[in-house]
Amino acid sequence: MIEVPKTIICVDCGETAHLMSYPPEEGWSIGDYVAYRCRGCNDRWDLVVEDSDASSGVDGDPYGARAFLEERRDQQKAKD
Ligand SMILES: [Zn+2]
Repeated sequence: MIEVPKTIICVDCGETAHLMSYPPEEGWSIGDYVAYRCRGCNDRWDLVVEDSDASSGVDGDPYGARAFLEERRDQQKAKD
């Protein structure tokens, strides 16, 4: 069973984004989407659950969430 962080740091405003999704009965598995809501800018962030063994213990960013969010942000900017 994979654990997902209860909170992440929003890359847009630096506030804490809290987990909104509830885990399935069997727990999270790789490829599931988890949603976070930022208390600062109220943005919603959807992350894909990844294998935590690959990058565990990296500066409180065990799932590469920050890199993922930054990538998404860049993509959103590119559309403008
Ligand atoms: Zn935010």
